[in-house]
Amino acid sequence: MANVSHELRTPLTALASLAELLQDDSLPAERRRHFLERLEIQVRRMARLVDDLLTLSRLEENGAVSASGPLSLGPFVEDLLKSLEPLAARAEISLETSVAEGLRVTADSSMLEAALKNLVDNAIRYNRKGGWVRVSGDAEDGAWVRLAVSDSGEGIPARHLSRIFERFYRVDPHRSREKGGTGLGLAIAKHAAQKLGGEIAVESTVGEGTTFSLRIPQASGEGADGTGSP
Ligand code: ADP
Repeated sequence: MANVSHELRTPLTALASLAELLQDDSLPAERRRHFLERLEIQVRRMARLVDDLLTLSRLEENGAVSASGPLSLGPFVEDLLKSLEPLAARAEISLETSVAEGLRVTADSSMLEAALKNLVDNAIRYNRKGGWVRVSGDAEDGAWVRLAVSDSGEGIPARHLSRIFERFYRVDPHRSREKGGTGLGLAIAKHAAQKLGGEIAVESTVGEGTTFSLRIPQASGEGADGTGSP
């Protein structure tokens, strides 16, 4: 609660002072526009924070998730990347995908989306201009699927790796805020992975990039080759 209050206080303080500045009738139009833009950024930040808190609290509610039939991973990943294409285009990042043909999981699709979307979103935001993000999917050990999100970004120093899945933990708080982060993306991804009966892991090299892998159960009855043939 103390963390959440602190996270909400930051944009609220900014909003209060912006509202005060905007009350000045003699403000030139250009300054007014500038303050309004900053106000919009703060409001959007608060909205994202509230959305992420709601997602996290839903994930923390006890009870099993309902698996929605076998889900084909190839088309699922394609759709997800399509929704993130505008963000990638703005950041000049290319999105690539290579998911093994016929790979399927028995998973709640909104849960899988919560996990994967946050990973790809981060891979785009903590990248460099002209960089790439790759999502791959392969069958592993017969019963598992390994989805990996790799990027050509800045990487994460080893000493932070054990803590980045904690709520509100950021390697560089200033950079996270500048990038519009809430500090909850990886906590959501980890919870979602656990609800899917799987786990999440990270490997990173500073200056080269990062790979997050999500290991979840394959759809039952799936062949070890991931083709779905008996
Ligand atoms: P945020 O909203 O700050 O991005 P997250 O929980 O999604 O919060 O991530 C926690 C921190 O982990 C980020 O602040 C960032 O420092 C680091 N991080 C996450 N993903 C990546 C990545 N792909 N490359 C480099 N750093 C990352």
